[in-house]
Amino acid sequence: MSTIPGLERQSPVPNDLTRPFWDACNERRLVLQNCTACARLHYPPAQRCDQCGSADNFEWKEVEGKGHIDVYMVIRDSRVRGFRSAQPINFAVITLDEDPGINFLSNLPGTPPGEVPVGAPVELIFVIHEWRVAT
Ligand SMILES: [Zn+2]
Repeated sequence: MSTIPGLERQSPVPNDLTRPFWDACNERRLVLQNCTACARLHYPPAQRCDQCGSADNFEWKEVEGKGHIDVYMVIRDSRVRGFRSAQPINFAVITLDEDPGINFLSNLPGTPPGEVPVGAPVELIFVIHEWRVAT
């Protein structure tokens, strides 16, 4: 597993809607909302299905976490504090194989900036971050 030197990530703050997603991540599993009324996956978590409008037919479904690189750009001059020390850095859109309507963002650790093989298969890795005192 590889990380990106200098990249600072914010810790998520789960709420009632997103807590099952983050709890699963802590168990190194990827779960998404699945609407059983219309058999569609959803990400990010939502109160209602954007396809059929149902609010009562969501269940959490574990997915494999495999996808492919749809598109990317290289960030060279971000104003986002967490990116500054890691620049240049890849910023890629990953399309989930189990539902091409769902995209995630990735910095593609281990892939040199600008050398991104668009269309290549990817798989999810979970990176554990340590806590430090904010200054
Ligand atoms: Zn639905």
